[in-house]
Amino acid sequence: MQNNRLLGPWRRRFQWLISLLILLLPWGRIDNVSILRIDIPSLSLHLFGATLRIEELYLLLFFCLILVLIFLLTTLVFGRVWCGWACPQTTLSDLAEWSAGKLNLKINKYRLQGPFWRKALLHIFFVVLAFLVSSNFLWYFIEPRNYFYALVTGQLHPFALGTLLIGATTVYLDMAFLRRLICRDFCPYGRFQTVLIDKTTLALQLPESEAPRCIECGSCVRSCPMEIDIRQGYQIECINCGRCLDACRQIMNKRQQPGLIGYYFGVNGDGRHALFNPRTLPLALGLVGLLILLLFAVKMRPEATLKASMSHHVASRRLENGNQASFFNAWINNRTTTKSGFNIIAKDPNNGQELLLKGPTRNIILEGGQNQKVDFVLITPFTGKTSQVRFILNSIDGRQLSETDALITTNQSR
Ligand code: SF4
Ligand code: SF4
Repeated sequence: MQNNRLLGPWRRRFQWLISLLILLLPWGRIDNVSILRIDIPSLSLHLFGATLRIEELYLLLFFCLILVLIFLLTTLVFGRVWCGWACPQTTLSDLAEWSAGKLNLKINKYRLQGPFWRKALLHIFFVVLAFLVSSNFLWYFIEPRNYFYALVTGQLHPFALGTLLIGATTVYLDMAFLRRLICRDFCPYGRFQTVLIDKTTLALQLPESEAPRCIECGSCVRSCPMEIDIRQGYQIECINCGRCLDACRQIMNKRQQPGLIGYYFGVNGDGRHALFNPRTLPLALGLVGLLILLLFAVKMRPEATLKASMSHHVASRRLENGNQASFFNAWINNRTTTKSGFNIIAKDPNNGQELLLKGPTRNIILEGGQNQKVDFVLITPFTGKTSQVRFILNSIDGRQLSETDALITTNQSR
């Protein structure tokens, strides 16, 4: 007998895996920093051990472009497989329908039918789950332990509280009333996918050659969450979940026959060579190119950065000995995840001669990801003209990490 294994258990395992990943990712830490979190107060993104500050978000742009290309390529090749196998919205709809079934409730035209107390119990479950999902979303912005502390002590920021309530209400309405309606009529990704899918894309089909064996039992149609009759051919609402395939295999199994429905590349079943076509190849090449660029950009990323400018509050002074004292503010950002020490030195960019700095410019110790302001005074010969200075940031062991130029303006007063 041909392969009649069911895909349902694999789909559910995959859904659980993705859901657990989304739920637990904000709790994970690398070098005591969140694996993935947008930190609003410091305007930085923690991404798998790296901390990107807002001025480095061009790296995030690369990352987003790569995600977009992966999404385009996956959709072109595998169709709406994300919708059926991984999308949290599908998982929530599946969970809502599964829990309704466990309470012996029927779902008829999106409405729950059954005894009042069972429906009430299910709605309570939906509310709890809605708050969990909405909290999970917030954990990508607020460290989960801080989130619970702020929630319990009533210190959650009003914006976060508003997001929690709006998110929970949306998820509750989705689970209780909307479910597949979102996938069918509202999801922009679903609409977008219909533009991308073509005759080479992976799709569920009942091939013409198998149609004569169909016993018209209707099991495939009854099992379809999108209310599609796959026997009529591919339809854009199909989310590639494979339930119809399982239903048919179960029926045909009893007759000692292989199932009729299968996953096929290409509407005419023209096989895997459909993968290599003028739409997928340029996208795949673009994806590889962007990945190489991202790796290169991450490799070239400095360990620490330095910015410096003359103080707006304290004017430069001409000293008795003919020198000028200029007051500077500098900002050092330790972009590593470990505690590191730094020295700031100043040089004349014209002749490379080191200039005198007074202030805490040596052995500056910063925690991983820390951004610190340092105030110091630069002593230069008084020239009466605007000139330039080069500040260099070195590691404690003398490696140059960053440099920045700044202007020295003069003030005739003593
Ligand atoms: S037609 Fe089959 S694969 Fe498509 S949504 Fe319905 S059950 Fe899922
Ligand atoms: S489940 Fe299979 S045999 Fe039954 S109607 Fe659908 S395609 Fe035909």
